[in-house]
Amino acid sequence: MPAVDAARLCTGALASAARVRHLRRAMRPALLDPLFAPLTSLPGIGPKMVRPFARLLGRENPRVIDLLFHMPSGLIDRRARPTIFEALPDTDVTLEVRVDGHQAPPPGRRAPHRTFVSDASGDMQVVHFKTERARIERQLPVGETRWLCGRITLYDGMRQMTHPDRILDAAGLARLPPVETKYRLVEGLAAGHVRRAMDAALARLPELPEAIPPDLLAREDWPAFKAALTRIHQPETPVDALPTGRAWSRLAFDELYAHQVTLALVRQTQVKAGGRSSRGDGHLAAAILAALPFSLTGAQEAALSAIRSDLAADTRMLRLLQGDVGSGKTVVALLAAAGVIETGRQAALMAPTEILARQHLETIAPLAAAAGIGVALLTGREKGRARAAILDDLREGRIGLIVGTHALIQDDVAFADLALAVVDEQHRFGVEQRLAFSRKGRAVDMLLMTATPIPRTLVLTLFGDMDSSELREKPPGRLPVDTRAISLERLDEVVAAVGRALAQGAQAYWICPLVEESDTSDLAAATDRAAHLAQVFGQQAVELVHGRLSGSEKDAAMARFASGAARILVATTVVEVGVNVPNASIMVIEHAERFGLAQLHQLRGRVGRGEKASTCLLLYRGPLSETAKSRLAILRESEDGFRLAEEDLRLRGEGDVLGTRQSGFPGFKIARLDVHGALVAQARDLAGRLVPGNPDLSGPEGERVRTLLYVHERDAAVRLLSAG
Ligand code: ADP
Ligand code: MG
Repeated sequence: MPAVDAARLCTGALASAARVRHLRRAMRPALLDPLFAPLTSLPGIGPKMVRPFARLLGRENPRVIDLLFHMPSGLIDRRARPTIFEALPDTDVTLEVRVDGHQAPPPGRRAPHRTFVSDASGDMQVVHFKTERARIERQLPVGETRWLCGRITLYDGMRQMTHPDRILDAAGLARLPPVETKYRLVEGLAAGHVRRAMDAALARLPELPEAIPPDLLAREDWPAFKAALTRIHQPETPVDALPTGRAWSRLAFDELYAHQVTLALVRQTQVKAGGRSSRGDGHLAAAILAALPFSLTGAQEAALSAIRSDLAADTRMLRLLQGDVGSGKTVVALLAAAGVIETGRQAALMAPTEILARQHLETIAPLAAAAGIGVALLTGREKGRARAAILDDLREGRIGLIVGTHALIQDDVAFADLALAVVDEQHRFGVEQRLAFSRKGRAVDMLLMTATPIPRTLVLTLFGDMDSSELREKPPGRLPVDTRAISLERLDEVVAAVGRALAQGAQAYWICPLVEESDTSDLAAATDRAAHLAQVFGQQAVELVHGRLSGSEKDAAMARFASGAARILVATTVVEVGVNVPNASIMVIEHAERFGLAQLHQLRGRVGRGEKASTCLLLYRGPLSETAKSRLAILRESEDGFRLAEEDLRLRGEGDVLGTRQSGFPGFKIARLDVHGALVAQARDLAGRLVPGNPDLSGPEGERVRTLLYVHERDAAVRLLSAG
């Protein structure tokens, strides 16, 4: 029975007793409060310092737990103690040196401060830029012995260490840990800041009740939650902080287990809730088909008929529609929507970004108009009265199909009768968001779309039981994209070739690299490239789009490119390039070696959409690893996204298949599918045994698992329990 009806039937004392019980159980245990406290609750993190942390952790108001789950990106071995002469350049070392003298820059000059140091094997310089002289001289007193942690570089044959990580006296050395963690950083944040904050966070970390059954814990020899996090961030041996180590694996299992329990609970509620049959008479679909300038491909027909029979059945649909960029998923989604709108119900399409949502609406609006379907757009930018009007129309059923972003799942968005929820680029949403979406109506059928093909085995592990349709066949008439790999050393030739194409009326995308260490360098690279291209082709010809622009700035830049006013669009990431500009026939990807196969394929899919023959230039910086070489070779050979996905899996392990950076897969902070893939099945089995035996997670074991769900922010799953 659906939650609302059940709630209405409950009356009087019974209902309020049940409510109190539910409320109590649906609240995060107070034990976890220190974890979910704002990061500013830690000593040393004030309103100013929190800003770079917010960028690092990708969250406007970061919390202690966000920091604790920010995993190290590597390790530094502080036991490496060579002499100056022996030290390898660009390798982390700790050197014992004598301070011989200082050379401060003349006042007002930009030159660095140099400190001369030596040991029995030779001498070198310590270089400080923009650092107060007195401070350096205090840290490095002439005649004393000091220990320097950092990397040596060779500059004009001279050894130097620029801004050592640490400068220690004997007492400091005694406290130096044998290994130290490294973290991905952003501008304004040094490794020391992160480590100090981490130490403070670890100091407040409570012991948690153990959610993993004792036999499994013993078999794997896993440490407890608190011990695991402590080992990772304050390792005593190198293996402590590795993804393959026991500490990390344990936390990965926690996360995967929380996810699998969530899936099991969702499945249980959906089965309980049952489904509804939506059997349209086909009149709106027919009107749309008549308005289409093409006929459906066989693959589209097949997917649509599978969807139609799901909709007609009185069970809930949960179907994945997989198809390469440009394979025509949007039309399928629209025709599916028409099916439920024909029965007087509503459909909604949610996309991960504003640009994508807007673009879907542009495709859909004329077709919907031809069929007389009311459509609207709802994103973060619809505000005030305009938004209120849309919400009104939605609630009154005047809108048949709404297209939007996360804005669609905000609390105050209500539908007259939502029957079909379509999620585009579904892997960019969490289970909870999908759940929230599906709760906007009664027994809502779900269609999840993805342009990143996911092998069947992974579909099961990641998303649980789900049906899947594939659009392997592309619409007719598409020209293959001429794909070439070129060394970045030949940049000038590439710019010249692009120039010749522009002169003939073409337009080009120019994608700048992803840089792991810092999000600001991404931006710098794109800004520099845009400036460079503007110098060659003129300011008017070049537009720049990156993640720091506001929605309207992005739109304005995109619009200038789409209208042809700008000839080159420089962009930082895949996200911003989710656009359809048929006249664009050139795709340049800088540092192609840093992208995953899936991402490269996605990017390439932005060209080859019009009548013109298209080109994709993969600019790489050599020497290439064997894997990178194979990746670029396969990309040149094939444009079949499914084949590329399989190759990707083979080449790089499962971790990259979803087109994310090496770190992991969407929605997971700790688990990495390439390393912890084997744990998925275990987590799934365990959840599969737990939930049917204890469907409302009651009793002491249930409480322990609830705590785990809260730690991994599967709050929505816990709410499911209280909604019954
Ligand atoms: P996807 O969302 O799968 O990336 P779209 O739905 O945006 O792809 O379709 C890409 C383009 O192909 C659109 O311009 C669309 O109108 C067109 N298209 C879709 N289906 C067909 C078809 N059967 N024949 C020709 N063109 C099609
Ligand atoms: Mg699409």
